[in-house]
Amino acid sequence: MFIDKERQENIDMIRVGIRALCNDFPESYWRKKDDQMAYPEEFIQKLTEEGWLSVLIPEEYGGAGLDMLEAAIILEEINRSGGSAGAGHAQMYTMGALLRHGSNEQKQRFLPEIASGKLRLQAFGVTEPTAGSNTTSIETTAYRQGDKYIVNGQKIWISRSQQSDLMLLLARTTPKNEIKKKTDGFSIFLLDLNDQKDNIEIRSIDTMINHSTTEMFLENTEIPVENLIGEEGKGFKYILSGMNAERMLIAAESIGDGKYFIDRAIEYANERVVFNRPIGKNQGVQFPLATSYMEIEAAELMRDKAALKFEQGEKAGKEANMSKYLASEATWKAANAAMDTYGGYGLAKEYNIERKFREARLYKVAPVTNNLIITFIGQHVLGLPRSF
Ligand SMILES: Cc1cc2nc3c(=O)[nH]c(=O)nc-3n(C[C@H](O)[C@H](O)[C@H](O)COP(=O)(O)OP(=O)(O)OC[C@H]3O[C@@H](n4cnc5c(N)ncnc54)[C@H](O)[C@@H]3O)c2cc1C
Repeated sequence: MFIDKERQENIDMIRVGIRALCNDFPESYWRKKDDQMAYPEEFIQKLTEEGWLSVLIPEEYGGAGLDMLEAAIILEEINRSGGSAGAGHAQMYTMGALLRHGSNEQKQRFLPEIASGKLRLQAFGVTEPTAGSNTTSIETTAYRQGDKYIVNGQKIWISRSQQSDLMLLLARTTPKNEIKKKTDGFSIFLLDLNDQKDNIEIRSIDTMINHSTTEMFLENTEIPVENLIGEEGKGFKYILSGMNAERMLIAAESIGDGKYFIDRAIEYANERVVFNRPIGKNQGVQFPLATSYMEIEAAELMRDKAALKFEQGEKAGKEANMSKYLASEATWKAANAAMDTYGGYGLAKEYNIERKFREARLYKVAPVTNNLIITFIGQHVLGLPRSF
């Protein structure tokens, strides 16, 4: 794994740039948004204006034309500052399906406006209540009628649908009994949420973190045929490459969270004096922080490996999945170590640890649960028998 000097300097500059931006959004800002369960609109506006959310869009469409590693560093630094990149991350990578599989006309039509932030493509509609982790059993259908597809079904856990203009939708376009392989017969679409307001019911879901997530009921929702991405029936294959990008970027956010916990816990362990000595002198406090630190560093290496392979067009499913798993597990351990270091104060909202603790927990579950990653490694990497 090699990053040349010039690229490393650019990455260092990105870290400095994001830290400067995040200084204007201190933890009191995030705490207030969390208390109010409100979308961090000002933060997202600022990230958009400064062009950070469009770094993966090529320059010809108005983006910065950077690569996966740079995108990962941006999200990592936001989370390390105490913020939550989850509020904006999808604007970065959801367009990947359009970039990789869309027609020239579609790219010309959508990408410049996504790059400028005029169009928000922050919603990704995959999960359904009955299918859960078993994505190939989703039941939402999109059947063609003339120059439109008519969509019917239900989605759940669709984040930022209320803050987005467009949603990338996965739906079944061929009935289940007419397909050969279970991954056949799905298609992806850009669904215009504003245009179809009357045909989509969106309900907010109350969650333990501030994540703007929703349930969606689609009833005779219309999508013009020109918003189908790629070929009909190949949608499942298209979303898989996007999911790898999502997994390594989520790993980056987890790594940012992990570094946040370690930074804060070290500070506190050095300052807090009990029994006439800083609590960090006790191995019971020091060891969990030191072991978590090592595990986060290891997850970071895997994240970098995944990003570099992805950028070079190599298969990166193994590394993308492993990085998401390793980062979320290491960070969850760091979250608990930070909680223990802070003692009772860890539970006081004012100290922010409890908010970040809640937020860090999500990444063991979404965008894919860690059990499913272990299963993927067991079956597809190690060649062990399928368990389901
Ligand atoms: C805050 C939040 C935001 C989200 N945002 C989005 C979004 O924007 N778009 C979107 O499409 N989805 C989104 N999701 C959905 C997320 O991807 C799913 O919650 C996740 O994939 C798990 O699905 P499930 O919740 O139905 O769990 P289930 O599939 O019901 O699984 C429940 C438990 O059983 C385990 N399990 C199930 N089957 C097996 C097996 N065969 N072997 C071992 N263990 C198994 C799982 O690992 C898990 O621990 C979001 C979820 C949350 C919580």
